[in-house]
Amino acid sequence: SESQLSSQAVVSTINKPPATDRPLVELSHVEKHYGRLHVLKDINIQVCQGEVLVVVGPSGSGKSTMCRTINRLESIDSGVIRIDGELLPEEGKDLARLRAEVGMVFQSFNLFANKTILENVTLAPMKVRHMDKKDAEDFAMDLLARVGVESQASKMPSQLSGGQQQRVAIARALAMKPKIMLFDEPTSALDPEMVNEVLDVMIELAKEGMTMICVTHEMGFARRAADRIVFMADGRILEEGKPDQFFDHPKSERAQEFLSKIL
Ligand code: ADP
Ligand code: MG
Repeated sequence: SESQLSSQAVVSTINKPPATDRPLVELSHVEKHYGRLHVLKDINIQVCQGEVLVVVGPSGSGKSTMCRTINRLESIDSGVIRIDGELLPEEGKDLARLRAEVGMVFQSFNLFANKTILENVTLAPMKVRHMDKKDAEDFAMDLLARVGVESQASKMPSQLSGGQQQRVAIARALAMKPKIMLFDEPTSALDPEMVNEVLDVMIELAKEGMTMICVTHEMGFARRAADRIVFMADGRILEEGKPDQFFDHPKSERAQEFLSKIL
């Protein structure tokens, strides 16, 4: 009936290629303490090529720590992390190589303040991937165009808005041609009117088939873009499921409480 129809939430999901069954990121039984604080408790996550995983949960639940273990910005006490099937080592050449497969975008844009936008994007590809300058610049300009800031290329970061800086940060991460993009609350530090311009870039990436792990409080984005949602609280994964299942029928009391506060 009409009333039934109108009471249904209409959510347009994005049109993106299906994920493959090749796991690009695997965390198995990952444990971590900060001193006496048990911050990650038996974390098991698998993200396949082309999949968008959105991680949600109250602040302090270990979401950022989990992200940071994926390229060993944080060590783990036990468990195993694999990137595209390869064990992530503690250190050394293989760590550097695997790290380059994971592009990270943080809440704070942390662009290099004393470098131009273009230099921000070309620096790592020239240093780490040994691209020559011309190729790095051509590729950087393509990426800056993709995120809509090519006209800002010769400016300094401080001359750009927060939303523009965050889009440059995304271009900078993409410049390394990562297999996986990891976003840790990329819009949390932005003025509200700039949130969508960054989410739109992320949605474009998802449509292109990028494998993504996104920590976010943007539930509209999560519902639209996620293939799967992981809900974390107190260092543990309490729920995992399809967006509709999680948002419409959260199982745990913690998730119900979290959603009632945030939606
Ligand atoms: P979230 O990203 O979900 O808000 P975090 O991973 O940032 O959670 O933090 C999880 C817990 O670990 C919090 O209690 C936080 O205070 C603590 N924590 C985070 N980083 C450190 C650190 N470097 N040293 C000690 N405790 C930390
Ligand atoms: Mg965090």
